[in-house]
Amino acid sequence: MLTSGTTSVSRRLLGRLRDVMAGAGTAQERLDKVVTLIAADMVAEVCSCYVMRAGEVLELFSTEGLKSESVHQTRLRVSEGLVGDIAAHARPLALADAQAHPRFAYRPETGEEIFHSLMGVPIIRGSRVLGVLVVQNRTMRHYTEEEVETLETVAMVLAELVASGDLVNRSELVPVDGNAVLPLRLEGVRLNAGVGLGVAVLHRPRITVRRLVAEDPDIEIDRLNRALAAIKTELEELFSRPEMRDGEHRDVLETYRMFTEDKGWLNRIGEAVRTGLTAEAAVQKVHDDTRARMATITDNYLRERLHDFEDLANRLLQHLSGDDEDGPRGELPEAAILVARNIGPMELFDYDPKQLRGLVLEEGSTTSHVAIVARALDIPVVGRVKDVLDMIEPFDPVICDGDNGQVFIRPPDDIRESFIEAMSQRQQRLAIYARLRDLPAETRDGIRIGIFMNAGLLLDLQHLHESGADGIGLYRTELPFMARSALPNVDAQTMLYRKILDQAEGKPVVFRTLDVGGDKVLPYWNPSDEDNPALGWRSIRITLDRPAVMRQQLRALLRAAAGRELSVMFPMIAEVAELVHAREILDIEIAREKQVGGVPPSRVRVGTMLEVPALAFQLDALLPLVDFVSIGSNDLTQFLFAVDRGNPRIAERYDPLSPSMIRFMRHVADKCREYNVHLSVCGEMAGRPLDAMTLIGVGIRSLSVAAPAIGPVKTMVRSLDVEVLKPYLHSLLDSRDHSLRPKLRSFAIDHGVLL
Ligand code: PEP
Ligand code: MG
Repeated sequence: MLTSGTTSVSRRLLGRLRDVMAGAGTAQERLDKVVTLIAADMVAEVCSCYVMRAGEVLELFSTEGLKSESVHQTRLRVSEGLVGDIAAHARPLALADAQAHPRFAYRPETGEEIFHSLMGVPIIRGSRVLGVLVVQNRTMRHYTEEEVETLETVAMVLAELVASGDLVNRSELVPVDGNAVLPLRLEGVRLNAGVGLGVAVLHRPRITVRRLVAEDPDIEIDRLNRALAAIKTELEELFSRPEMRDGEHRDVLETYRMFTEDKGWLNRIGEAVRTGLTAEAAVQKVHDDTRARMATITDNYLRERLHDFEDLANRLLQHLSGDDEDGPRGELPEAAILVARNIGPMELFDYDPKQLRGLVLEEGSTTSHVAIVARALDIPVVGRVKDVLDMIEPFDPVICDGDNGQVFIRPPDDIRESFIEAMSQRQQRLAIYARLRDLPAETRDGIRIGIFMNAGLLLDLQHLHESGADGIGLYRTELPFMARSALPNVDAQTMLYRKILDQAEGKPVVFRTLDVGGDKVLPYWNPSDEDNPALGWRSIRITLDRPAVMRQQLRALLRAAAGRELSVMFPMIAEVAELVHAREILDIEIAREKQVGGVPPSRVRVGTMLEVPALAFQLDALLPLVDFVSIGSNDLTQFLFAVDRGNPRIAERYDPLSPSMIRFMRHVADKCREYNVHLSVCGEMAGRPLDAMTLIGVGIRSLSVAAPAIGPVKTMVRSLDVEVLKPYLHSLLDSRDHSLRPKLRSFAIDHGVLL
């Protein structure tokens, strides 16, 4: 049967190729043997291998059947002749009458005029064309699809030889512009915002352990201990750096330090040594076991934590095999985009952060330790880019677009230029926003708007002063909880909240109590299986049902504030009774602190999120009980329209700038004014200039937005005339439109409001 016969031919050929490739001789000699083998096996009179040289030139490197003097002489440009065409389009050609093809280019030095048929395939590695492999026959042979496939498989094996750097200098394999190198755009997810341009540096692949069997286990244990000690010294050095003073990335490395002392892990390595393995083989074995465990764990958070062990194992292997010299440190290009399957938080510090313009990962999640560290270092990160390592080569130009969760590999000039342009515009805008920093957020008709910042990590605090925000309108306390492996105790929480207040330097900070559940799962709390987690046991529902957690958090907040003002906000309150209940717990804690002689806050302000619509119908009962209200427009949109905010199919179906939502906002704004209760909006909506303009139009005077939105929102505020907007907006509220966005945008344009 043809198919199985063909397969067995290619398998036999592959076996022989493997022997030749692994055998003795220079790379050129091995290549010569390979082409002879292919010609014989495929019953072709000619087999030639062209290799891509610097400058997009394909050079004949080896041939069986063409004139030998043409080797290293015959050169074709990409696109020139049939060989050039195969390279240019990275696709095979099989022609019974090659000379009749319009692209045929005759090279007299080769003597190929007597060969009529030609089959050629690109030699590809990743998505880069490294050369072309060709067979030719005198007769007008019709090559079959199976034969094309066989040749493609052979070319894949050959790609390893070409890419090894033994045939042509590796530096020549650096890509150049042109269509032999296919540009790619890959989708991932945003793990840290920002855009970086640079060349690819592939994170060092795993170290291969060569010495497996030990002579003396005691010597191996000793080596292991020395390697561990060296890592601890490195960690100490890291901890002493100024950027490590505090922040969640410090917590991350603290956790990592704990791993170096993890008894279970060390014992398992010790046991493996005692079975006769070398220290490195033992580490490798335990490491492989861990990886196998990782594969069966579906919980992202736990997988991330196990990944830290993997990082540690890699580092140990590095020390044990003594091969620091090929480490990345010395060779990092000026602007590097680091590409890795995954990378540990400590490994990231092996690369000079000043030269790192971006990080691209095949794995990773927002709670990955490396993502937290990268955020601290302000490095854009795109994660979950499938198979990126197979598609990229060292020194490939890369754009890491963290803002949009995408990566461009070998981007064409136009894309590259538009990114450079966008980055420069962004720089200019940032410069304008920086100049705005000390100017008041006041409308043209003199209305002062409070612009606050949303934060969730200690490291966000640096933006508070840079941006000139009035304070922190929403501090999401759950995020630091997610960077740890266990619920932090009261002391740890107190320290964290104290640091936040210290760094806020007197600007107000609104701490929202733990808002977990739904999509925010803490690993140390078993998530229950719910059909509708967004409507499930989450947020205040959990902390009212588990008051010990709430009490500990409130205690820590009270202690951290000691003598300063404290603002506490409860999330997802759906009815006044819940707020009353939460407040009682707070009062118990205030009384308890008094009893034990703690220094109380100078004032405790209590507020609620308004994100469940039902609460809006109890404002007369609610408002006398609170100092402030903050509308969480993200959850509110979800509940008001009954639309899952995490479901991309419908998440955008309804617009917050719809008449119903704007009426809702106006109702709450009117009521809060009546009761003299401070009102703000802290969902994403508040950070979009047009939406923020509308909120101001219905009477909202405080917005809490992500740090990058502060400049744009302030720019809008300073160009707005509220008294002109108000009547127009009110005239739209009876509209039947799906969205008022187009009309409001036209208003902004007509009235010079800067969006
Ligand atoms: C909201 O729901 O609008 C909000 C600010 O809270 P989170 O996005 O954290 O749920
Ligand atoms: Mg919410």
